Amino acid sequence: MALIVQKYGGTSVSNVERINNVADRIISEYKKGNQMVIVVSAMGDSTDKLIDLMNQITSNPDPREADMLLTTGEQVSIALLSMAIQEKGYKAISLTGSQVRIETNDHHNHAEIMKIDNSRINKELAEGKIVVIAGFQGINSHNDFTTLGRGGSDTTAVALAASLKADRCEIYSDVDGIYTTDPRMVTEASKLDFISYEEMLELASLGAKVLHPRSVELAKFYNIKLYIASSFNNQPGTMVGGMDNMEKKRSVTGVTVDKEQVKVTVAKVPDQPGVAGKLFTKLADNNINVDMIIQNLQHNSKNDITFTLHTNDLNKGIKYIEEIAEELGAENVYIDEDVAKVSIVGAGMITTPGTAAKMFNILGENNINIQMISTADIKVSCLIEKKHADLAVKILHEGFELDKIKL
Ligand code: ADP
Ligand code: ASP
Ligand code: MG
Repeated sequence: MALIVQKYGGTSVSNVERINNVADRIISEYKKGNQMVIVVSAMGDSTDKLIDLMNQITSNPDPREADMLLTTGEQVSIALLSMAIQEKGYKAISLTGSQVRIETNDHHNHAEIMKIDNSRINKELAEGKIVVIAGFQGINSHNDFTTLGRGGSDTTAVALAASLKADRCEIYSDVDGIYTTDPRMVTEASKLDFISYEEMLELASLGAKVLHPRSVELAKFYNIKLYIASSFNNQPGTMVGGMDNMEKKRSVTGVTVDKEQVKVTVAKVPDQPGVAGKLFTKLADNNINVDMIIQNLQHNSKNDITFTLHTNDLNKGIKYIEEIAEELGAENVYIDEDVAKVSIVGAGMITTPGTAAKMFNILGENNINIQMISTADIKVSCLIEKKHADLAVKILHEGFELDKIKL
């Protein structure tokens, strides 16, 4: 008998037919004698719809109230899935994050899980029930609902697998695994049978929405292998796990794009020690994450400092950026939302010189101008004009021959 944690995303439970299909899949594993803990997301795009309602009321929602609203989506799907399982003659119970006691810190809208109490889950499992838990939500020290950030149900599943010491953690969505790039953008994308935590973490952090980045971090930390597959078919999926055989690593494993980036230029600040420190400390102190950074020397001992932010941080960040720009004596602040960050990821690039150069050449040959570059051990990212984003992914995928990756 194994303890299996399975997570089903929004599209997998988007209507009654899909919910019944998921119930059948769960029951077939349960009938093999396994204990089943199921994590579900809100139905279809219902979280988007809740956000849309919220935005019609206010552009600056109280974070606590936003979490109160958004946690309702998952409450609908857990109840319906439990009923579907019961209707098919099996015992099931739905539990919210607060009923389980998935304890998080106080950071509404992007809370982190601190601790999970296994006792209620274990009690229900011992009674032979299939336990259906709301993803994406928890409870903070004030007994208020919190959410883990968009896509956070993956993280709920991995945290539960770690806490319960599950034998398997399976994430089901509408794709049958991790591909070399989003298969909806590039039909030639190849499915990977295995990807390392490190590569998956980069892909997820750089825009591939297939897994919540924190779920991969947690899986790596607790050494939990994740199996990513489709709830729509029984095709073999992708295993995410520890890096094996480094020597054999592909130089590039995947290409991804993030269209939710903004480029900010603080123009003509004095070329003096301490300026960059003051600018980025101000942003860090206000919880604004900066990604790529470049500094250009202008004439007359002035610098332009350019950096990128996530679009979600722009509204909050602009006030602080303007304040500090003025304090530093900058002449102007320019905002460019017409950008996208395209990235290549691969563990083997450490040992393959010329990978970054090849990326730049491919973009150059296609007349795509690179505005900013950032590199790390296993990734290279380029900021480009947004209108070129899809083409860039396609030509990089082709140029690195990712359509020919053998399983
Ligand atoms: P769920 O709602 O089940 O959590 P998501 O929509 O979050 O599912 O993630 C699945 C989607 O991720 C796919 O439909 C696919 O378009 C997208 N995706 C982006 N990059 C990749 C990739 N490299 N491999 C597979 N899917 C990807
Ligand atoms: N329902 C939440 C969202 O849409 C969480 C999730 O799907 O993982 O972001
Ligand atoms: Mg998701």
